[in-house]
Amino acid sequence: MNMQEYIEEAESALLHTYNRYQIVLDRGEGVYLYDMEGRKYLDFVAGIAVFALGYGNKAYNDALKAQIDKVIHTSNYYYNVPAIEAAKKIKKVSGMDRVFFTNSGAEAVEGALKAARKYAYLKDGSTDHEIIALNHSFHGRTMGALAVTGNPKYREAFEPLIGNIRFADMNDIDSVKAQLTDKTCAIIMETVQGEGGLVPATERFLKEVRALCDEKDILLILDEIQCGMGRTGYMYAWQKYGVKPDIMTTAKALGCGVPVGAFLMTEKVGQNSLVAGDHGTTYGGNPLACAAVEKVLDLFEKDHIIDNVREVAPYLEEKLNLIQDKYDCILERRGTGLMQGLLFDRPVGPVINNALKKGLILINAGANIVRFVPPLVITKEHVDEMIAILDACIEETL
Ligand SMILES: *Cc1c(COP(=O)(O)O)cnc(C)c1O
Repeated sequence: MNMQEYIEEAESALLHTYNRYQIVLDRGEGVYLYDMEGRKYLDFVAGIAVFALGYGNKAYNDALKAQIDKVIHTSNYYYNVPAIEAAKKIKKVSGMDRVFFTNSGAEAVEGALKAARKYAYLKDGSTDHEIIALNHSFHGRTMGALAVTGNPKYREAFEPLIGNIRFADMNDIDSVKAQLTDKTCAIIMETVQGEGGLVPATERFLKEVRALCDEKDILLILDEIQCGMGRTGYMYAWQKYGVKPDIMTTAKALGCGVPVGAFLMTEKVGQNSLVAGDHGTTYGGNPLACAAVEKVLDLFEKDHIIDNVREVAPYLEEKLNLIQDKYDCILERRGTGLMQGLLFDRPVGPVINNALKKGLILINAGANIVRFVPPLVITKEHVDEMIAILDACIEETL
């Protein structure tokens, strides 16, 4: 079958929950992807902030192949070495104390919410606790994660979701205080909002939220699923501010493509929340997924991935600023590290489609923002290559 026939087959078999770009991707090499007709694309999406290490990383691939030949899955009723090694390493890089591995980001959020509710339940025995989430946040598509996602369009058809969620605004502590009651058990937020428009929390806001949580014994849950894993130039974005969460979620780049996420907590929450029988998963943290996590964390250290982000990100910012200056239709550059966005005064779909035709993969965040979340191994030359195509696309399209 040729590419067009495969696309038609897909549209008749897959549930239409995505408006897909009209290419069938076949293989990857470094920061380039190839479609099944052999066309080459510079990838500034990385599977949405997933493939940090670049495609075809030999050390990563070899580690997975070796684990496949040993054992792929056992059960969480038994110990396995990759999970223990992965847990040890993620504790080290995050400074958190206890980890639960999941299969996805949304599932990590579900676990975080359960842990927070259980913590509050153990304190006062009541079952009507509230959680504060932020407008324009994104935490995933399952019922619990959706309930704390600050986009009414995503939520509406699926109501009632879990109840007792109140929404406040990013970087506005008064709006958070306005939603606070004596039932509040947790505040959940992304350290840098991703889907909602590449909006970093300010240092001041994070510190104010942390102080509020400390004062009231409320748990701070930081969702680092998109902004974590080195993307901001810190392993976890909160480390830049020294504002430590009580519970943290991570996924996306954690397994670099093998589906895995995790929620982590401090010892205090670990000792006062979920116990045997409270939470579980069949696949979560299986030997294959954890072999991926273990190798990813190894390679982050060995290949100095975060140093590369710190070197290339300012260059990307500078080049995006120049593009912004050049075009009146671009209102703002947003974001931090290798998690950037350009806000346009109109929908960006045509620019992204044109870029694809010219061999550049980009993605939106909302209708009017072009998002840049490339593999963390990109170089300044890749940035130049991307900017040249982007410039031509905007020139032609808008
Ligand atoms: C992608 C994302 C999620 C959901 O992760 P899935 O693996 O798609 O379930 C949750 N929170 C944030 C911040 C994300 O970017």
